Amino acid sequence: MIQLYIPLNFLGVIYREIKQALTDMDRMFSLLNTEKEIADVPNAQPLHVNNQGRGPDVRFENVSFHYEAKREILKDVSFNIPAGTITAVVGQSGAGKSTLARLLFRFYDVQSGKILIDDQNIVDVTQLSLRKAIGIVPQDTVLFNDTIGYNIAYGNPNASIEEVHEAARAAQIDRFIKHLPEGYDTQVGERGLKLSGGEKQRVAIARTLLKKPAMLIFDEATSALDSKTERAFQEELLGLAKNRTTLIIAHRLSTIIHADQILVMEHGQIVERGTHTELLAAGGRYAEMWQMQERIVLD
Ligand code: ATP
Repeated sequence: MIQLYIPLNFLGVIYREIKQALTDMDRMFSLLNTEKEIADVPNAQPLHVNNQGRGPDVRFENVSFHYEAKREILKDVSFNIPAGTITAVVGQSGAGKSTLARLLFRFYDVQSGKILIDDQNIVDVTQLSLRKAIGIVPQDTVLFNDTIGYNIAYGNPNASIEEVHEAARAAQIDRFIKHLPEGYDTQVGERGLKLSGGEKQRVAIARTLLKKPAMLIFDEATSALDSKTERAFQEELLGLAKNRTTLIIAHRLSTIIHADQILVMEHGQIVERGTHTELLAAGGRYAEMWQMQERIVLD
């Protein structure tokens, strides 16, 4: 019994870390689903996305949530991400931004309120179909000690080589790979090629694109990027968001100026919402953050 317990316990630890880091191992997640706190309801139906070419409409309605009793993390949060649009969430560390994404992916269930995707409450649909519809580009990507081709194909094990190359092209890492001595067969990881933060994130993007998700969650890396890479990422983000519904958990305001909607979170509540221009004109919390960021860049 103890022999079984140890690996299961170990898997439990990994599972918790995956949930926390919003990592891109949702496939592994299903293997590791040793905690039964989230279960499909009897007769759960697959999520139906009305317009696959546009992405679903996503709605948080009066959502309140806590991880631990007596410490409310989200307080009566309501917002809508219309189909095919980009919503960015900004706010201080600990405000609850990543929690929104964890709830959408149903790593946890809300205590009150509901989350609707194309009018279907996510607690009523199968977890498999929900997670299939959502692609997460995590801050930090797990790479396996295998070829770079394998690492991309991990996003969809049934993908053809052509599809892997196409995803790599869309993530703008194809040219880099082609210049490697062994191309897509180049080993990465501990005993192989070391990838930079930016390259790793591109692998993550390619992996996610391969999954062809109707909805995308982009967890922006906290680490600073040089201005050239940052500009490239802004463009990539717009390309990625095309034809799908997108939620960006943003750490840099400059990457989200084109978002259709920006939500400013503070202590688990949305305190401001609007476009970049509207929020600057409002002269509130966002405008303050923007000025502060400008000052940091100038200093
Ligand atoms: P950051 O910008 O630093 O990533 P965030 O706005 O994304 O922060 P969240 O990760 O959503 O913040 O966390 C919101 C709050 O919930 C924090 O106070 C955090 O300590 C708490 N929290 C997060 N995960 C857990 C957990 N698994 N158990 C208990 N509390 C948690």
